[in-house]
Amino acid sequence: MIIKTNLDEFNEYLTDASCFTGYSESLYIPESKGEIVELFKRANSEGFSITISGAGTGLTGSRVPLGSIILSMEKFNSIKSLAKNEKMLEVESFVRLTEIQDYLEGSGLFYPPNPTEKLATIGGNIGNNASGSRTYKYGATRKYIDFLEIILPSGDTLDLRRGEIFANGWHFDFCSNEGNRIKFDLPEISMPSVKHSAGYFIEKNMDLIDLFIGAEGTLGLIVSARLKLLPAPQEVLGAIIFFDEHNKMYDFLNYVKSIEAAISPRLIEFFDDNSLELLRPAISQIPSKAVYALWIEVESDGEKADSDLESIYQVAQKFTNLADETWLAQSNSEHKRLAEFRHALPLAVYEKIQQYKQQKLGTDTAVPDASLKAYHEEMISLFKFNELEYVIWGHIGNSHFHANIITKTNEEFENAKNIFNKIVARAVALGGTVSAEHGIGKIKKDYLKMLYNNGVINSFRQIKIAFDRNSVLNIGNIF
Ligand SMILES: Cc1cc2nc3c(=O)[nH]c(=O)nc-3n(C[C@H](O)[C@H](O)[C@H](O)COP(=O)(O)OP(=O)(O)OC[C@H]3O[C@@H](n4cnc5c(N)ncnc54)[C@H](O)[C@@H]3O)c2cc1C
Repeated sequence: MIIKTNLDEFNEYLTDASCFTGYSESLYIPESKGEIVELFKRANSEGFSITISGAGTGLTGSRVPLGSIILSMEKFNSIKSLAKNEKMLEVESFVRLTEIQDYLEGSGLFYPPNPTEKLATIGGNIGNNASGSRTYKYGATRKYIDFLEIILPSGDTLDLRRGEIFANGWHFDFCSNEGNRIKFDLPEISMPSVKHSAGYFIEKNMDLIDLFIGAEGTLGLIVSARLKLLPAPQEVLGAIIFFDEHNKMYDFLNYVKSIEAAISPRLIEFFDDNSLELLRPAISQIPSKAVYALWIEVESDGEKADSDLESIYQVAQKFTNLADETWLAQSNSEHKRLAEFRHALPLAVYEKIQQYKQQKLGTDTAVPDASLKAYHEEMISLFKFNELEYVIWGHIGNSHFHANIITKTNEEFENAKNIFNKIVARAVALGGTVSAEHGIGKIKKDYLKMLYNNGVINSFRQIKIAFDRNSVLNIGNIF
């Protein structure tokens, strides 16, 4: 075990991409599973707590310690095995998304979840049930987790295969590998039927593995995971289509999401006028008349690629005057250009927030498809009426926006927070969620209270206590 106690050597572990900052006196870097088990047992007997750190790209302060020791999984960074026939990949928890994608390149298989931040680790992705652009077609991380090797806060271990341990109705009763019994009740709730990652995953008769996915490290540490893969499509075609009108963009969106559409995208990502403005200094080719852009990808077999590209263009022509300005992508370098365009945006916003030394104020709300357009319009009016600087982008295919308010002073931040709260509350009122992919962490707990009453949040606490009666692991996340 490597232990660092000189703050200068681990300062960057005190924060994450939300800019929320905590404090700690030591960083522990274990080199074996046995060392972690030993540390967890000591924490229980000596009464200290531990916060697990992934790559720190999280946006809710969930890896940020509040006085606990930091446990970084960075030595657990190897890809263990690829079982091509079973379409399974076994990885340790600190393997980064980019490493998984590079490893599978050319194998004929792919790992569908595609969160924008490729430096994130698979442990962090599982901790938050991360999703990404392709979630529109393929779903979030949860769907692709077949097995988890877990160390529980007590120091016991759990090898958890999907399909092996289920709740009996709303009740769990099972044993750890060491034979210790764990039992608890689930709150009898229905989660919002939109893309959702706020609080524990709860369903009648659910699989136990699903409780650990999206639990923000509060119930156990993930040592390694087995990921389900899919056959890679023969060819992927991409396009960034620009629009000069709000309504036309929505007409296009509704059309491509309908079953009779001539093209059927696997991802649909949105950029508003302020996003395009922010990107223009670095990317001069953005058409001057564009107010919105959509990035889409369509899977194709090699032979039909040309006619599929033509279909994308023809559909664009029906819905926008800027169809001739569409950026098409077929080769790797062309795809890279579109992905970089998408990735540049959260980074540009992040840089601005850092420059003004403000905390991030970005929604992660998703709403039912039928309410999306009205929700979007309400947001714009609120921002404009209150003269706020804002940028909206996100996974519009899943009716999931990231609306970011950029504030320069603490006073501005407090005003903006009131508006932000209204937007989150409105998503809940429409049947949506307060967090579709980033989780609750330490900075979004008030929003979880908008979604669930005290009784439900107390039931979450009882689940936590069933695993962690001495409050050892990831304290301060979720509740
Ligand atoms: C530019 C940018 C773009 C982003 N785009 C997306 C996106 O498209 N979709 C999306 O979902 N998110 C996105 N994010 C957010 C972030 O990348 C994800 O939340 C990611 O899952 C965090 O992974 P990480 O390794 O950085 O984890 P961290 O931030 O280090 O930790 C996140 C949580 O996981 C827990 N954790 C980490 N490792 C383990 C482990 N081994 N066992 C148990 N718990 C663990 C931590 O304790 C913490 O609670 C983006 C962030 C940035 C900065």
